[in-house]
Amino acid sequence: GKTIAVLRVAVTVTAPCCRGCLIVTFRSNLPHCVSVLSACTQQSSRSTGSRLSLRAAESEKPFGNSISRYNGETERTERGGMPHRHAEEKFHLSEERSYVSTQYSLRPRREEIKAMDSKEENIVTTTRSASLKTSQAPATQTKDLEFGGVPGVLLIMLGLPACLCLLLLMCKQKEPSLLNFPPPLPAWQDLWETRVFGVYILWFLMQALFYLLPVGKVVEGMPLADGRRLKYRLNGFCALLLTSAVIGAAVFWGADLYYVYGHFLQFALAAAAFSLGLSVYLAVRAAGAPPCALAPSSSGNAIYDFFIGRELNPRIGTFDLKYFCELRPGLIGWVVVNLAMLLAEMRLQNRAAPSLAMTLVNSFQLLYVVDALWNEEALLTTMDITHDGFGFMLAFGDLVWVPFIYSFQAFYLVGHPNEVSWPMASLIIALKLCGYVIFRRANSQKNAFRKNPADPKLAHLKTIHTSTGKDLLVSGWWGFVRHPNYLGDLLMALAWSLPCGFGHALPYFYVAYFTVLLVHREARDERHCRRRYGLAWEQYCRRVPYRILPRVY
Ligand code: NDP
Repeated sequence: GKTIAVLRVAVTVTAPCCRGCLIVTFRSNLPHCVSVLSACTQQSSRSTGSRLSLRAAESEKPFGNSISRYNGETERTERGGMPHRHAEEKFHLSEERSYVSTQYSLRPRREEIKAMDSKEENIVTTTRSASLKTSQAPATQTKDLEFGGVPGVLLIMLGLPACLCLLLLMCKQKEPSLLNFPPPLPAWQDLWETRVFGVYILWFLMQALFYLLPVGKVVEGMPLADGRRLKYRLNGFCALLLTSAVIGAAVFWGADLYYVYGHFLQFALAAAAFSLGLSVYLAVRAAGAPPCALAPSSSGNAIYDFFIGRELNPRIGTFDLKYFCELRPGLIGWVVVNLAMLLAEMRLQNRAAPSLAMTLVNSFQLLYVVDALWNEEALLTTMDITHDGFGFMLAFGDLVWVPFIYSFQAFYLVGHPNEVSWPMASLIIALKLCGYVIFRRANSQKNAFRKNPADPKLAHLKTIHTSTGKDLLVSGWWGFVRHPNYLGDLLMALAWSLPCGFGHALPYFYVAYFTVLLVHREARDERHCRRRYGLAWEQYCRRVPYRILPRVY
């Protein structure tokens, strides 16, 4: 929609409310407009003025916004420590007519939908896209540094490669007990091999070539700060099929995948070196990026931004570096590594067929990768794409951590066989399927809702309206806990480790690490959502009190 008028009104604030949060409510008497405007700012309690960004929606409906109902809060907030100014307000009067929603109504949306004629539904969509532009707007740099700020990210950047080496070296030991003294660092030639690095580069280029193939649907991403939507080609699943064909042909013509197992540490370090080089490139090119290209998570601090990524969507022409790295070289690489481990197990343990444990690990993780590539479009609404920049965190995570740590169970089983009985296998499969159903259905429900909130298939779900124009689901999977998809993911992670048995704690490293990752990620997401949706988010939290695990967390 178009903004048809912008008014600036000065307001003097004399009494900020608790936590410095101010809510202002207005009734407009402009022609055709009976809506309520509301806003919230977060200021220090010493504040005497505030800058409010308000948005008004026109309404002709008798049940439209009324002064007695709070309409969520605006997405822009100021932090304490900013210089105080005389308050300034912006009223953006949208030209769309009749965007109406019962605020905080938890009744099934079917009733609401019935009440609207088709014209109004169109208007909801139009209004929503207009609101989205404003809600996505904060490409401004936040001063809240996550991950423990600069010392935290420095520690992570040094700790992750060290942890990778340690885990892989420990896993190669005959007795990989956590209580053992850490194995010594191998000689340089056992850590680095130029040929391995060359193979890695070839792998990366092959995936880049598949990514560029003009096959697959082109879709638009979420609106950016300037209202633009980037285009993305969805051909990840096709890339997986092509890779399978290439690997199959290579094995047929004599390529030995045991090479991957034999040089696993070198491959991991080659990928780490590559991701470091990529991060340096990203930091250098981001130095000249315009402010509108910066990620909401970037801070202006060089070290922090090197880690979190300064540019939101670094592209070379239409080649989106972050989007490509998220799902291709690392994720598909993980499947190839698992296959290599399966063949290595057969060779080293003189088996005619892979063990049941290895088969379970391989098939579970293959399902996870296939699912991610099949539902590739869902990536576009994730935090990685919409909020975090592309820097060391995602480059190392996508290119190193995923293929070399997520394949840890298969790597472990090559040297430490474990016989799984069929009853045990059935329980593990049941756990995996249970996790998968929760994970997939929760993600699909949210994605379908974000794509089309008026989808008749979702009409039975209850929602909370927010002032950004986006609604929050409060029933269905998202009414069960606030991150049902994380719960499903964690159950699956446990199912991946159980086939390794209980002889050692090492194969459970992934579950432990992933729990920490998702608990931290959930907290980050909560913070973003609270900032974005304000009181509407508080309302959601009251309604759905548990974050990941019902009655526990
Ligand atoms: P989510 O897919 O959970 O997305 C969070 C966003 O969803 C929020 O920012 C908000 O965005 C929206 N949202 C939250 N609550 C609601 C609600 N009630 N109704 C509607 N929308 C809501 O987060 P991630 O990007 O972290 O994860 C995506 C998937 O990837 C998950 O399944 C996760 O488990 C998986 N994952 C896997 C990892 C791995 O290494 N294997 C690592 C990280 C994630 P908005 O309102 O702006 O739409």
